[in-house]
Amino acid sequence: MARRQLLIRYCTVRTTPRVSILIQTMGAAVLVASALLPATAHARPRGIPRPEHPERAKAQPAAPNKAPPAKAPSAKVHSTTPTGPRVPNELGRIPIVEWHQVVAADGTYKVSRERFRAELRELHARGYVPVNLSELLDKTMDVPVGKTPVLFTFDDASPSQFRYLERNGTLVVDPTSAVGLLLDFIKGHPDWKAKGLFCLLPAAEAGHAFFGDKGIDGQKTEWRFKKVQFLAQQGFELCNHTLWHAKLNKYSGAVVQEQLARGAMAIDSAVPGYRVRGLALPYGLWPKNRALAFKGSWYDTKSKRSMHYHHEAVFQVSGGPARSPFDPEFNPKSLPRVPLQGGTKLSTTLDQMDKPGAWARYVSDGNRNTVAKP
Ligand SMILES: [Zn+2]
Repeated sequence: MARRQLLIRYCTVRTTPRVSILIQTMGAAVLVASALLPATAHARPRGIPRPEHPERAKAQPAAPNKAPPAKAPSAKVHSTTPTGPRVPNELGRIPIVEWHQVVAADGTYKVSRERFRAELRELHARGYVPVNLSELLDKTMDVPVGKTPVLFTFDDASPSQFRYLERNGTLVVDPTSAVGLLLDFIKGHPDWKAKGLFCLLPAAEAGHAFFGDKGIDGQKTEWRFKKVQFLAQQGFELCNHTLWHAKLNKYSGAVVQEQLARGAMAIDSAVPGYRVRGLALPYGLWPKNRALAFKGSWYDTKSKRSMHYHHEAVFQVSGGPARSPFDPEFNPKSLPRVPLQGGTKLSTTLDQMDKPGAWARYVSDGNRNTVAKP
């Protein structure tokens, strides 16, 4: 197995320590790889729209007008929550939250386990319900009245997100890993389902290889595919984050396509036929030829096959809550996210979303066939 070493940083913050990433030229075997009240007639006074968040325009450029949503406008329905009445508004914003490592203490790209649990509790208490990327893209979210969708994203496939423990010869999900903590939370809150998006690295160093290899953090290399399969079986979705976290702006079109095709191939190897619909850009860096982030191909000399990829959604690393898929300016090709790590607070974004204005939250009318407008 040919290998060469590169130095890269994990995601975008300046203070991140450099870590080395191992390029593995992987073999074909690996790579072939809400509370309800009756409806009332009040309307919430409209607020004065706030100026757009400065990062929004950058993260989600104006898209050409798209076909109007299939859903028809709905009758107004009102609901209340512990924080007050919420008027349905299915053109409002949806947070796409982004976690990296879930470890002992907060830091750059790290949240503590206690904080991770607290963030889940806060999202639940404030009326958020997890949805999948495919439901956003297909406009098929089924969110109870008064509630707001949230898309969880987990980047970098570290063991901290998903560890196995061997107990009496059986593999069990480590209850202290992010997947263990999330599944435990869902068990206690049956109105939440196992939904969320894991943006995977199949072959990066330091165990960032489908959640751990080579004994790192006690994780065996042969457990990698089982983990990816387990996530898909639970109802989570899988997303590309390149082969080994390459800075896509630095490479030729050929290398960009190899990184993306092999990232998608590795997922296909674990879950045959899996349709990878999303790409999280490492560091939020676009390839010079942006079109290659969405579509491309790479010829695998081992299997003598051309491997194609098609990403309908591309994620940035920041930018605030995303537009609703029913908003004519929804642009899945550049989705902003809400990164959660040391120095950032979930409540800051959620507080803004509870105010009228550009970031006002999406609030479901509870009817999949209508689009509630404020
Ligand atoms: Zn990353």
